[in-house]
Amino acid sequence: MSFRETDALCDLYCKAKQQGYGFFANNIADTNTLVGLLEGYSSKRSDLIVQISSGAAAFAGGGNKLAGLRILSYTVRELARNYPIWVFINLDHFTVNEMDLIKVAIDEQLVTSIMIDASAESFNENVRISRTVKEMAEPMGILIEAELGKIKGVEDEISSDEAFLTDPQEAVEFVQRSRADLLAISVGTEHGVSKGKTITLRTDIARAINQSLIANELNIPLVLHGTSGLLPEQVAEMISYGICKLNKDTHYQYVYGRAAHDFYLAHTASIVPPNTMPEQTIDVDHIFAMSDWSPRKEHFDPRVVSKMIRKQIMETAMKLIDQVGSANKSIFR
Ligand SMILES: [Zn+2]
Repeated sequence: MSFRETDALCDLYCKAKQQGYGFFANNIADTNTLVGLLEGYSSKRSDLIVQISSGAAAFAGGGNKLAGLRILSYTVRELARNYPIWVFINLDHFTVNEMDLIKVAIDEQLVTSIMIDASAESFNENVRISRTVKEMAEPMGILIEAELGKIKGVEDEISSDEAFLTDPQEAVEFVQRSRADLLAISVGTEHGVSKGKTITLRTDIARAINQSLIANELNIPLVLHGTSGLLPEQVAEMISYGICKLNKDTHYQYVYGRAAHDFYLAHTASIVPPNTMPEQTIDVDHIFAMSDWSPRKEHFDPRVVSKMIRKQIMETAMKLIDQVGSANKSIFR
């Protein structure tokens, strides 16, 4: 079901934090990933959080971010009607340069939560910008995720050469002043393709941040970015320290690319003419009209590879849901 009921998102995170499980928040840029996720999540009876980055909005809108944001939001809303779970939309890593888009997203209720990323600014600027978005979003019941510290790596239009880990005491002051509903922390994960076995994951800092917030009656859900290379035991440990939302983008991008690769490789002979064909008959522009050979539509029709991609995304989602424990926890009634 559609994501409009924002109170449900609050309940979702609160219940997860109380009971010690979490949610992967999954980036989408097209319908293939979305349908695969909807299939996987509904069959596991887990609610679903999808995210739209500003790069994904630009992609979906053919360069027009606002058009893309509306397209993806409406697509989620329409497709979600077919499934007996809650589906929520988060804006991922929107910055101060995209305040116009944020305003439209709020006014038109295109989303259920917004990550305002002002982590590249000074502490006071980060507080000021995050608080501004909180005040814009609050009347519509839209939640705000803010980030303190800096996460290393490249994701979409966001990149950072180095990491600044979140300071637990600063986190308390930051949440008090910004009134953020969710806090993204930097504890050693990296955006992009990273390897859980080589990164230094500062679980001690995550635990200290959670304890400091709770001690100050700010028991809000914490967010971890750059989780694609984490090992299952690292994911479980982070959830035990109050992480309720774990961002997932790169992992599905790989699954998507790999599914397409494997499918086309298995059907090369349906798509690429044999190299014994006379040169003059190789006429791609007219789909080999001058040749005896024809490509096979049952393999090159993009919907065929898309079905394979959706299936692989679905199967991956089902495994990942088991890592965070959100199966059979849907609050949809
Ligand atoms: Zn991120």
